[in-house]
Amino acid sequence: MSVTHDLVVTGGTVVHHDGRHRHDVAVRDGRIVAVGTDLDTTGATVVDARGLLVLPGLIDMHVHLREPGMTEKEDFASGTSAAAAGGVTTVVDMPNTFPPVATAQRYRDKLDLVRGKAYVDFGLYGMIDHDNAGEIAGMAELGAMGLKLFMGQTTGDNRCPDDAAIFRGLEAAAADLVVGVHAENDHLLRLFGERLRESGRTDPRAHLESRPAFIEVEAITSIVTMATEARTKLHIHHLSTRAGLQRIVDLRAEGHRVTVESLVSHLVLDDGAYDTHGNLVKLNPPIRPAADVEALWAGITRGDIDIIATDHAPHTAAEQAETDVWKAYGGFIGVETMLPLLLTATTRGALDVEDIVRLCAYTPAQRWSIPHKGQIAPGFDADLVLVDPTEEKPLDSASLHSRHPVTPYDGWVLTGSVVATYLRGGLVHDRGEVVGPPSGRQVVPRRGSGLRPVDAPVPALGTMLTVPTRELV
Ligand SMILES: [Zn+2]
Repeated sequence: MSVTHDLVVTGGTVVHHDGRHRHDVAVRDGRIVAVGTDLDTTGATVVDARGLLVLPGLIDMHVHLREPGMTEKEDFASGTSAAAAGGVTTVVDMPNTFPPVATAQRYRDKLDLVRGKAYVDFGLYGMIDHDNAGEIAGMAELGAMGLKLFMGQTTGDNRCPDDAAIFRGLEAAAADLVVGVHAENDHLLRLFGERLRESGRTDPRAHLESRPAFIEVEAITSIVTMATEARTKLHIHHLSTRAGLQRIVDLRAEGHRVTVESLVSHLVLDDGAYDTHGNLVKLNPPIRPAADVEALWAGITRGDIDIIATDHAPHTAAEQAETDVWKAYGGFIGVETMLPLLLTATTRGALDVEDIVRLCAYTPAQRWSIPHKGQIAPGFDADLVLVDPTEEKPLDSASLHSRHPVTPYDGWVLTGSVVATYLRGGLVHDRGEVVGPPSGRQVVPRRGSGLRPVDAPVPALGTMLTVPTRELV
């Protein structure tokens, strides 16, 4: 008796970015080999998915798993456990760690550090800092998924790159890396923050007032203008305002090409959350008034927003309880709650499950050229999420897998649960339990030019930037 398939998921509704079908999914050697009806189950592990949705594993393009240097907040094991439990099979980790990943050597060190700890596949971003254009080719050769550019910070004496440094970084990235931007103007953030501090304000809402929408608009205009000139693939992380989105629409109409991300937290929370949750919901850019939230949803409906991500940004429970807004950290966890929150949004017609697949799997894989990810089709990795779209239950933060499971969504009644998660055909999460051992691997973007082997010589260390990460969400 010959075995054709290792695993066959039968009877589920397979949801693609552009439609859904009642299909079986057959897997061999970690890849999807067939999608159809009545597939051969001889000798295979059969998973009965009747009544369930089968989605491609989500790709979260924006997480902070805090390695190296801040593992009291989170690490690759805990953060990727949370991802697996949330139906996220690929995470892309940001470089604002301690030390920041701004050189090829630091990139290699981080790979060595996290390899073997991840329960899901992972990509790693490098960083554009004030003086590291010469390091970018080396980071690309090690598999950098993209480069993060922080235009704005507010606290400490860390140096944001000036426009010349930004432009050199954009040029160096232009060959084949996406540059992802935190688009807020640093000088203006400092001005508005100082004014509010001097006025004696320490309440959570002062954070919102210190970051008015035009500061985002100004930064978007500047970086899109520069990136077009440098011919860089540009992505705006966590766009947060109606005015910022309108500027994107206008810039696109003029011929500029840029992709845009919205965060789950910016979609499901508005500024009322400051009254309920205080500094737990401090985020950069901030949680905005309801009019901005409505504009973001409208942008998703129109197709102006390309992807949804989480900005999973853990801190310790003690740090999250800080009451002085200027001492509080920005960001909170989210990778495990993204899919249930978005499934819940489908029940009020805000989007369809197909849209979730497009925004959180298909388009990220396309935009970042991630091979074999983001679709349920023959030849793709068997990253599969089984979802019960009808199960309704209150979120219990104690059930979450992050090191500090503090979330503003505790107690929210969510409709739609993640039943099981498969990574390249292997079960990594089953009804709330993460299944080991960790089998996540680095994912590397498909590039125009050839890759050097990972053990090839890397450029000499450049000037290192020591970045206090307080404001780097
Ligand atoms: Zn972030």
